[in-house]
Amino acid sequence: MTTFFGILCAKGGVGKTTTTINLASAFVSFGRDVIIVDADLTAPNLSIHLGVPTFPRSIHDALAGEIQLSECLYFHPSGLRLVPGNIGYEHAKTVNLQNFYSALQSLKQKADIVLVDGAPGITPEAYAVIQAVDYIITITTPDLAAVSDTRRTIKMVHEAKKEILGVIVNRVRGEEHELPLENIQAFLDIPVLGTIPEDSNIRAATQLHGPVLYTIPDAPVTHAYKRLAAKLIGQEYTAIVEQKKIPSFKEGLLKGWRLG
Ligand code: ADP
Ligand code: MG
Repeated sequence: MTTFFGILCAKGGVGKTTTTINLASAFVSFGRDVIIVDADLTAPNLSIHLGVPTFPRSIHDALAGEIQLSECLYFHPSGLRLVPGNIGYEHAKTVNLQNFYSALQSLKQKADIVLVDGAPGITPEAYAVIQAVDYIITITTPDLAAVSDTRRTIKMVHEAKKEILGVIVNRVRGEEHELPLENIQAFLDIPVLGTIPEDSNIRAATQLHGPVLYTIPDAPVTHAYKRLAAKLIGQEYTAIVEQKKIPSFKEGLLKGWRLG
């Protein structure tokens, strides 16, 4: 059985794409077969995060009715499979959302889990994701602007009568001025699924063209993603965080390339 999750927030830059990649990678680390799909159709960058800006086939070709979405799958060395978007400006202008649901359906039985990286805004593009998936996971950062935009996404999901699993609070620094988790939960009225710390290893991993779990396995944020994934699939996870220094960018680079 394939379960489809949409990763959404009306605000840009809160970490939808980062979460899609790393949560998927965490599911892979628990033995799940996972596909990630770039559904930020007007500004796709999932494949850029993974180091390959352009692929010959993309979700845009499938939405244009030229090929099946299942024919646009690319393997990443970390074990993920990716359906990229086409980063071309002209492709963004001519997206056909009417085929979105059926295109996504062609991934049924092709993986255990499909994570769909959604577009920001309360746009038809974001709505297409909401309608096509089984569950929505929203992402926010612990500040009022992001939480307020997350509430818009939640309203959209309610309007579509779809199910929200909860919210992931990303880029948590533990600073005094951040919105407390209890307030975020109370304001959004959905469960906080977990928190992901602010960690510069995320940017280092992007430079290394892979999920942080794959490129910098000892990063604190790696354990946060694994903890979150374990919770979502009802599995035990006890992080064995070794008391050694976090690898520097250079060390991470070497480690990443060896693994690749
Ligand atoms: P969105 O898809 O919501 O627009 P992105 O995933 O592209 O957001 O993230 C926006 C920026 O924030 C990226 O540069 C990314 O590296 C950074 N980022 C995301 N999550 C974290 C984190 N936990 N720690 C540090 N940087 C992060
Ligand atoms: Mg994004």
